[in-house]
Amino acid sequence: MQELTHYINGAHVKGTSGRFADVMNPATGEVQAKCPLASKDEMEQAVAHAQAAQPKWAATNPQRRARVLMKLVTLLNRDMDKLAEALSREHGKTLPDAAGDVQRGLEVVEYCIGAPQLLKGEFTDSAGPGIDMYSMRQALGVTAGITPFNFPAMIPMWMFAPAIACGNAFILKPSERDPSVPLMLAELAEEAGLPKGILQVVNGDKEAVDAILHNEIIQSVGFVGSTPIAEYIYATGCANGKRVQCFGGAKNHMIIMPDADMDQAADALIGAGYGAAGERCMAISVAVPVGDDTADRLIEKLVPRIESLKVGPYTSGADVDYGPVVTAAAKANIERLVQTGIDQGAKLVVDGRDFKLQGYEDGFFVGPHLFDHATKDMDIYQQEIFGPVLTCVRAQTYEEALALAMDHEYGNGTAIYTRDGDAARDFANRVNVGMIGINVPIPVPLAYHTFGGWKKSAFGDLNQHGPDSFKFYTRTKTVTARWPSGIKEGGEFSIPVME
Ligand code: NAD
Repeated sequence: MQELTHYINGAHVKGTSGRFADVMNPATGEVQAKCPLASKDEMEQAVAHAQAAQPKWAATNPQRRARVLMKLVTLLNRDMDKLAEALSREHGKTLPDAAGDVQRGLEVVEYCIGAPQLLKGEFTDSAGPGIDMYSMRQALGVTAGITPFNFPAMIPMWMFAPAIACGNAFILKPSERDPSVPLMLAELAEEAGLPKGILQVVNGDKEAVDAILHNEIIQSVGFVGSTPIAEYIYATGCANGKRVQCFGGAKNHMIIMPDADMDQAADALIGAGYGAAGERCMAISVAVPVGDDTADRLIEKLVPRIESLKVGPYTSGADVDYGPVVTAAAKANIERLVQTGIDQGAKLVVDGRDFKLQGYEDGFFVGPHLFDHATKDMDIYQQEIFGPVLTCVRAQTYEEALALAMDHEYGNGTAIYTRDGDAARDFANRVNVGMIGINVPIPVPLAYHTFGGWKKSAFGDLNQHGPDSFKFYTRTKTVTARWPSGIKEGGEFSIPVME
């Protein structure tokens, strides 16, 4: 059995706590590795290395720091297939999807190569008589991030690339369910020239997270994961005086207006609802057709598309549409919620409950499901299912559809499908959700914009990546300077005489 490690001060280090988590192969249901779960002591050792290494890294000029990131981009491209394979093996997503996971992280590394420009401060000449004023953005020191299982390459890069570009040291506590790619990323960063101790990976669970939250040297904490944990980390981190940003769960609605191109909307829902087995925080999990006629036309288009989805292991390459979910517990939770949907009176139009894959009977595969006639009070509508289950809630008017998206506790992403620019514009302006798609199903902003939800999908006031990340990972210092006047005549070379 493979025993994974931590990556501390430039070396793979075995866990010493004696505690491990099983890393599964979701396609076969077998345990494929053991992930060490760090103790408080192990976390403190990493923090000590980070603290020792950080001042020199912060004093390295931003252009040189950016060059390390440039090299990292080259190495990520060189190892793309290797990274995607390791990612799929532990996560279960298809190989093309895994490569996309790496790619969307890599794009944030590319953005951070702009650090010399992004870190330039502000200057006011002659703010007063002989007084200049300038602001600079300085690194925080030792920073940390806690990441979820569903994007084991992308989200760590969204955090560590801006953190290190700004001159911080960063400690990553990745998901214990798929820790191999984060370890590979730390190795690649060092190969790219990052000094030891600037990017470390400490694997673990709540004990490691609490060691971060209560450590006085760690200045900031970034978190992405489920909302209850996000709330805990935000509250505890803030109470301990840290800068914290936490991104939580989602229930993303797609509004389908009567004038929408129904084929386009159905295709979009298939990709956004079932891609990655629905294990995306930007998955569309609720379809809201406006009017019964729209709903009937949509369902008619959706059913054959859903029934022909190909579900299988990542080893089938591009021949499968989605793979297994991550654990047996995730599968059981999806099945439980599907049952509540049936019990509470939603109509199960596509029933994936009997899905079996020959040769992979012990894998965590879940067949695709489609519910119609769901209502606001049902668990399948209120809760994040995080599986291949699309729920259709019919609205009679645009206002009713808008209100559904607005009243839901989550506010990560949403989309509208329409040919009417006025409806699309009204929707984008009024809806209280952070990321909006207009005839675009998964509106994940690109690296140079920022990513973040509203309501119970995000806690903290700055988004991930883009310009916000350079604000999150730096502190502003403002200097007001006056120099004594009168020395500009220069030195005197003749013997002073009394006048
Ligand atoms: P999770 O909350 O179970 O775990 C996330 C991280 O928190 C992991 O590193 C885990 O080890 C740690 N953790 C788990 N339990 C903890 C506890 N009790 N105390 C402290 N730390 C703990 O989430 P997950 O299952 O890995 O990821 C799926 C969730 O993440 C979904 O809810 C999804 O919507 C969300 N997500 C959100 C975004 C976003 O940007 N909003 C992006 C991706 C995923």
